[in-house]
Formats: sequence, structure tokens, C-alpha cells
Amino acid sequence: MKGDSKLDKLLSKGREYEEELIDFLSRFIQVKSVNPPGDMREAGEFVKDFLEKWGLESQWIEPKEGVVTIYSRVGDEDYLMLNGHMDVVPEGDHNRWTYPPYSGKVVDGYVYGRGASDMKGGLSALIFAYAVFTNVFDKFEKGLSLAAVGDEEVGGRYGSLYLAKDMGVKPRYVLLGEPSTLGYYNIGEKGIVWYRVKVLGEPAHASVSPYAGDNAIVKAAKVIDEVYKLAEIDFEPPEDIKEIAIQSGMKARELMGIEGIEKIFFRLSCNAGIIKGGVKTNVVAPECTIDFDMRIPHAIKVDDVLTLVRERLSKFEGVTVEEMTGHDPNYTSPNTELAKVIEESAVEELGFKPKPSLVMGATDGRHFRLHGSDAVVYGPGEWERIHGFDERIAVDDVKKAFRVYLRILYRMLNP
Ligand SMILES: [Zn+2]
Repeated sequence: MKGDSKLDKLLSKGREYEEELIDFLSRFIQVKSVNPPGDMREAGEFVKDFLEKWGLESQWIEPKEGVVTIYSRVGDEDYLMLNGHMDVVPEGDHNRWTYPPYSGKVVDGYVYGRGASDMKGGLSALIFAYAVFTNVFDKFEKGLSLAAVGDEEVGGRYGSLYLAKDMGVKPRYVLLGEPSTLGYYNIGEKGIVWYRVKVLGEPAHASVSPYAGDNAIVKAAKVIDEVYKLAEIDFEPPEDIKEIAIQSGMKARELMGIEGIEKIFFRLSCNAGIIKGGVKTNVVAPECTIDFDMRIPHAIKVDDVLTLVRERLSKFEGVTVEEMTGHDPNYTSPNTELAKVIEESAVEELGFKPKPSLVMGATDGRHFRLHGSDAVVYGPGEWERIHGFDERIAVDDVKKAFRVYLRILYRMLNP
């Protein structure tokens, strides 16, 4: 791209604001936005004020009291959306942090604090990219928007899902700044289903058990064994992401050092999270419930999982399965233009090509994918400490992400 004076102008303008970006991030961490409880008003003001200083209008969206999304757009249509969440998870025991969790302290090349990596770092870089790009170019082919949402950590109902479903915001492309780390971009995530298995037994006096009565707790133990067997079935993901599923599994194995975990993108995960049963020590338990969490590979859907579970448990009498919540696995084609542009922009700026991957957990990307957008996650961060103590992000990674974002916008929007 040598000799491209428009791009040079954009990048050199960006460089002028790199220190301010780090200062913004540090102050953003100081703005409390813990979820739960999920009061995002202060964080919303913080982002809105910044955009106003750059002459950018924004919409204050608050579908539920305190749960705020700041949505700003330049151009008529929503072609490319930059999306990040302002909310952070609780900080836990303050005494176990080296620096206070909301200090935003900058030490030895890192910004410390809750939300540094997940994801005020990535969101700050997106916000600055949005501001600088629209400042340098007042005309470009397609619409660009920024959504700083406030509800990701508890599922996104009043954040990204509200935008996509209730407001009908359906961008062609969504770039999310969650911490994929700069060497990877995420195109998809496993599905999830929570369901409750209710086991009925027949009460009797404990002194005549096991000759009389039917103990629901004992039956529940067998039910759990049966359900766990489902996690041994191998499923085949679609052809276009099979290789990515293999690579993502290997990456998980490398990161976690657990043998066998590489199968996780071909199999259901399984966790019996809560069990409740029995009424009294000397009574044969008449009832027991077990709540399961299963993450679903890219080969089957929520309904298929429930059918499998019911089939498996049909040999037991008095056992019913009830869905609590769930969504299907989802992905954006690795051949989407946004993925290619991320690769090319990173090669230019960082000198290496990030790899496509799938993730086990959920991001807001699913809300847009399930409503027809191509959504890709690419952002800076340090995985090890996310949701833990001493969360931090490298100053350099935030600046690098910012520069890559500028290049992505340039390529996607043809100013
Ligand atoms: Zn996050």
C-alpha cells in the first residue's frame, strides 16, 4: 500500500492520539461499570462525552433502567458496526489485587484494572478508530457505526440483542473488539443449553430401604452417568470450518495443558451444576432435580441435544427434561470479506497473519450472527487474567489494535 497518501494521512493522524488512547483507557477503567448489578450510566456518559468532543452524535439507549448502550452512526445504512461492551465482571477480593482494581494504573507497559482486557482495552481502541477515521474522512462509501453496549456479561438481552432484535439494527458486518489476542480472530462459538432433569421416586421409611420405595437421588446418580456419556459422542462440523475446529482444539490444549480437551469442538461439554433432592434423612427421596449445562459443537442444535438427552433417559421411569435457556452454535464463514480484511490489515501493520478460530464461550457476536450479520471478533488482551485478579493489558497491544482497526476501516469503507 506504499504511496497511498490517504491511508498515510489516516495513520499519521492516528499516531497523534495513541497516548491519549492509553489515558482514555486508564480513566475508562476508573469509571465503575460492574455487572451485576449493571448500572452503565456513568460509563455511558463517559463514552458519549468523548464522542461529543469529536463532533459525533450518539443515541442513548436504555431499555432497562441503568443498562445503557451508546450507539453512534455516520452514514445512512449500517454497513460496518464496531461493537464492544462497557460492562465488567465483579472484581472479587480487593486484597488480592496488586493495584486497586479500579485504579487504571499504568506500570511497566501495562494498564491494570478490572476490564483492562475484557474489554475496555479493545473498546477504547475501537472508539478511537471510529473517532479518528470519521474525523479524517467525511465521505466514504458505506455507513459506519459504533455500539458501546452495556449488557454483555449477563447475556446481552438489553445490549446487543436489543439492538439486533428489538431495534432491527442489522449491519452487514460487525467487528467486535473482545480479546481474541492479536494472533487470532474468532469467527464462531459453540452453542449452549441449560436444562433441568426432574427425577421422581417413591417415598418409604429409610429403615426398609432399599427393599421398599424408589429413591430419586439414587436414580439421579444413574441419570447423571447416562447424560455424561453424551459427551463422548463425536460430531462432524461443517466442511468449511472443520480444519478451524481442529486448530482451535489444538490451541485450547496448548493453552490449558489438558490432554483430550482438543476434542471440545467436536463434542458436547457436560456439567451437572446443581442438584437438589430429598426431604429428610430417614425418608427415601421422593424427588430430585439436576441442572445441566452443555455447550454445543457446530454440528447440532439445541433441539437435537434435548432429543438426545430424552432418548438416553427414556429407560428411566419418572424422569422428565425441561429446557431452561439456550442458543444454537453459530459462525461466520471464514471467507467473509471482514475476515480477509482483518488478515490483510494485520499483515501490513504487525507483519503476521492472525488465524481464524472458534471459541467455547459466548460473545455478543452470536446475537448479530443469528440475525443475519457477518460478525468477527478481533481484539487485544491477555487471556490468563480475564475475570481474575490483576487483570491487565499491554499498552503496546492496545496501540497495535488501534492501528490495525484504522487499516480495517480504510479497507472496508473505501474513503
Ligand atoms: Zn468480554
